[in-house]
Order: sequence, then C-alpha cells, then structure tokens
Amino acid sequence: MTEPECLFCKIVAGDVPSTPVYENGTVYAFRDINPQARVHVLVVSRQHYEDAGALAGDDPALLADLVLAGVEVARQEGIERSGYRMVFNTGEDAGRTVFHAHLHVLGGEGLGLFGRVG
Ligand code: 5GP
Ligand code: ZN
Repeated sequence: MTEPECLFCKIVAGDVPSTPVYENGTVYAFRDINPQARVHVLVVSRQHYEDAGALAGDDPALLADLVLAGVEVARQEGIERSGYRMVFNTGEDAGRTVFHAHLHVLGGEGLGLFGRVG
C-alpha cells in the first residue's frame, strides 16, 4: 500500500528523486537530504506504515528486513567496524517529520550523545 501524499512513498516510487544506497524486494535505502553525520542513510519499507510500531505489529519480519538492510548499508559504507547508530524517531519530542516508518543509519565519525537538548 502506498499513500499518495507521503514523501517517502513518492521516493520509493521514484516520483521524488533520491540517491540510492541499497535496495531489495521489501526495503529501499537512500541518503538523507540533510545529513547529521558523514554517513546518514534512511532505510524505508516499500510498503507504507506510519511508524515503526505499526510496521512491527503488522509485519515483524519487515522490521527485521529494515534492520538487516541497515547493517548492509553500514557494511557498504565501510562503517561496520568503526560503529554506527540506528534510530527510529516517533512523535514530536523526537523531532519526527516524515510519517512513513524509516530507520536512520548514522556513522562515519564520532557521534554525539543523544537525549535531552541542552
Ligand atoms: P524524521 O525526523 O522524521 O525521523 O526524519 C526525516 C528525515 O528525512 C530527516 O532526516 C530529513 O532530513 C529527511 N528528509 C526530508 N525530506 C527529504 C527528501 O526529500 N529527501 C531525502 N533524501 N531526505 C529527506
Ligand atoms: Zn509512505
């Protein structure tokens, strides 16, 4: 299922351009337009889910696909050994902006601590 007004559905469909990093039958990974680290890749399911919880509840294997794709992205980007962070943001306090479940893969340099602002 796709949502006509969803940015990441449009990216998956190729209607909005993106820079591909990895893809398979269930997921698509592309570079974040506003990278927060030297490597910042988004991994999305081809099927639309509002957030990670909805995705995991409906199709747990698809959540595993996202995580395994994140590991593959880290391997391809050469940060598998140096380390990386995988993040799902949910809701306003987490700064969530796009409502199609996506896994952030960040690395390529030392990452700051995360948590409370200031
Ligand atoms: P969120 O804050 O919802 O967890 O993450 C959304 C991410 O999508 C942000 O890191 C933002 O930079 C990225 N993003 C927003 N619009 C676009 C776009 O059009 N193309 C790409 N490649 N990334 C986008
Ligand atoms: Zn979508």
